[in-house]
Amino acid sequence: MVMAAAAMAAKALTDTEQSPEGRLGTLLDAYGRIQAAHGPASPLSFGEFRTLLQGDLSRLLPGRVPADELDGVRLISPDGYFDEDFFDLEIEQRVVLRALAKTTHAGRPASTRNLEAEMDQDRVFTALRKRMDQDAYVHGRSSLIRVPAGSDAELRRLNLPSSVAEFYRPIAFDAVWDRWWFACPVCRWPMKVTVHGTRARRTGSVRCFHRPHAAWGAAYSFKLPDAGRPPVLALLSRPVKPSGAEAVLFPDLSGPVPEPLPVEGHKALSRGVWRWTTVPGLVEIALFDALSLRGLPVELWPELDAYDLRVTAGPDGAEFRIDVKDYTSAILLAKKVQADGGDRGGAEWLVVPDYRASSLELLGTVAGEFGMKSAAASGLGQLICKKAGVAWQ
Ligand SMILES: [Zn+2]
Repeated sequence: MVMAAAAMAAKALTDTEQSPEGRLGTLLDAYGRIQAAHGPASPLSFGEFRTLLQGDLSRLLPGRVPADELDGVRLISPDGYFDEDFFDLEIEQRVVLRALAKTTHAGRPASTRNLEAEMDQDRVFTALRKRMDQDAYVHGRSSLIRVPAGSDAELRRLNLPSSVAEFYRPIAFDAVWDRWWFACPVCRWPMKVTVHGTRARRTGSVRCFHRPHAAWGAAYSFKLPDAGRPPVLALLSRPVKPSGAEAVLFPDLSGPVPEPLPVEGHKALSRGVWRWTTVPGLVEIALFDALSLRGLPVELWPELDAYDLRVTAGPDGAEFRIDVKDYTSAILLAKKVQADGGDRGGAEWLVVPDYRASSLELLGTVAGEFGMKSAAASGLGQLICKKAGVAWQ
């Protein structure tokens, strides 16, 4: 309850596109909800509430709620913008609650708030499976991963059933400057556009909504151009390609800076489908491509997505059944594994993107309780290749 209300308030506080009256209304509504959570014994003044919103989220929680890993999570970044990780954390929490509700047949979702993103993700999977045809499923899901945005003509060429194609929508306003948008060089989805500073000193900033992509180099600045002209992006810092085993799956970011693309005549996947299909899918596909290239038999999403990848390796035909998960919060992913009692589809490997390798210590213990092993994508690729007697690098 506090998380949802605080997210609402933080967005209202930072979203300059909304009317001041609308922003104040949302802020007061959220304040009321947080006061209710705190209870009459520990009142919170409106001033304190506003200050806390810009700091550590854990400090907003009532004293009796353990702050867990919310320690250090900020809703508003130091330069005054809504923090995108929060979008992930909120959905991840709901996924865990739902998994728990499913296993216990009790309890209800945490809030009845219509969370469009989460519903889109459920609906797109139903639409992909509708024909019960493995090839159509693989074609559909690969398309959502490889082409999360494009021109109307490009998207038509994907030849997707209309129940899947409907998840391509007009480019969202927070990814648009004037009438232009920019595709992330890692995921190809529209990047977030913001303008900082006041009057003559205003500069633009463009970065992927997925923090690890921005950290890899999908982050740019631009000088505000003359009216009617498109902005020209400048790299903030040159991406550093990892060395060793991790270099294999690392995307090629050596190309030129993203070109401005017109909003008109282009569409992009809804945010939920991009975040929960495209983003983890990039790792699934990179692993699939790398292992196929090395001559290993690999299948994507076998049995209409029982799990993500099946690889056979070595003289004894050992099978690797892999599930890829990209959660911003390692604790919530661990809780999800616990709530599901391991992997329901029969995967034995829980794989995280290389940029989440730090979560393996925690995940390894929890996955182990259910007979699963865990690894980062490159680590597992290397292990499979060793088993098959081929070189990973
Ligand atoms: Zn991206």
